[in-house]
Amino acid sequence: MRTLAKRHYWLSLSIAALLLLSGACSRELPSQYFRMLAFGTIMELEVIGVDPQTAQKAHQALQHDFDLMHKAWHAWEPGPVGRINQYIREGKPLAAPPSVLPLLRLSRDLAEKSDHLFDPGIGKLIALWGFQSSELKPHAPPEKEAIEAILEQHPSIQDVHLDGMHITCDNPAVQLDFGAVGKGYGVDRAIERLKEMGIGNAIVNAGGDLRAIGSRAGNPWRIAIRDPDGGGIFALLSVTGDESVFTSGNYERNFSWGGKLYHHIIDPRTGYPAKDSASVTVIHSDAATADAAATALFVAGPKDWHRIAKQMGIKYVLLIDTEGRAYMNPAMRERLKLQKTPREIIISDPL
Ligand code: ADP
Ligand code: MG
Repeated sequence: MRTLAKRHYWLSLSIAALLLLSGACSRELPSQYFRMLAFGTIMELEVIGVDPQTAQKAHQALQHDFDLMHKAWHAWEPGPVGRINQYIREGKPLAAPPSVLPLLRLSRDLAEKSDHLFDPGIGKLIALWGFQSSELKPHAPPEKEAIEAILEQHPSIQDVHLDGMHITCDNPAVQLDFGAVGKGYGVDRAIERLKEMGIGNAIVNAGGDLRAIGSRAGNPWRIAIRDPDGGGIFALLSVTGDESVFTSGNYERNFSWGGKLYHHIIDPRTGYPAKDSASVTVIHSDAATADAAATALFVAGPKDWHRIAKQMGIKYVLLIDTEGRAYMNPAMRERLKLQKTPREIIISDPL
């Protein structure tokens, strides 16, 4: 995970605005709102109908947990994942740090279901492109030969073997980078913590990617989905109960060089930024799966998203391609209130 990134500030602001808007209609229960910094983004917590002391406690607990998670899962700073990467590079076995083991297990499973379009073992490629850097400056893209040299070694999280607490890896080209799933996994842990504290109505928003539980004083949580072209609102969405909404977009983190835009979602098959998709939004119960799936379906693109979504058990998808076409499954179409008329809407078979 990175330390600093250009994030969905716009989107989170718009979400805050929308939440405030719906708050105006629900006077009965107070809403409390907190901001924290983690995973290179601003994390927002909103709780409803909770006394101020409990809300403060929840805020402190989450900030503390996020700090720990950020440190544990950062691929490029000293810490447990950094240590695993060092041992993998040196071809040595190690005892799995408990703070990483569940994320590693889940990631292996999600990678397999995604046909490895989501694969946290490709950290070397991410680093080669410079996307691990906390300050992303325009620079020449890597040489074709350098990309091919990594691809020839086929790094994949599948090469990381777990035997109880023991980690071995038979491919020194593997470098773990949980950037596409860690934030979602962290949001899940935060929601779990809130539930343990007896908080039933809350939203944890990680720069536009979020999980919401309960309701907003009986009203659904209202979410804005950003238009990847121009940054307005593409659609609105209502969420109640317990759902996560995650988006991967080419506008998140990128640089321009020689008139071309290079973004941070890398196709593990080619070693280059994934083509054809501009953004993918996924709704799912848990945030870790939604996060990994948004990345995987972005890489899958207009041709393959439906097949991969099925394999990953995803029921709601919106994919906007680089030419402004919107692909979605019928159930997603029913939930979206479009704010923009896309160039074309393509409704798939049900998921
Ligand atoms: P964001 O974190 O901006 O919401 P993603 O969830 O799609 O976006 O995560 C992108 C990050 O994940 C990249 O910055 C990189 O660290 C890592 N990554 C890029 N491509 C892949 C991939 N195909 N599989 C797994 N991780 C990836
Ligand atoms: Mg992701």
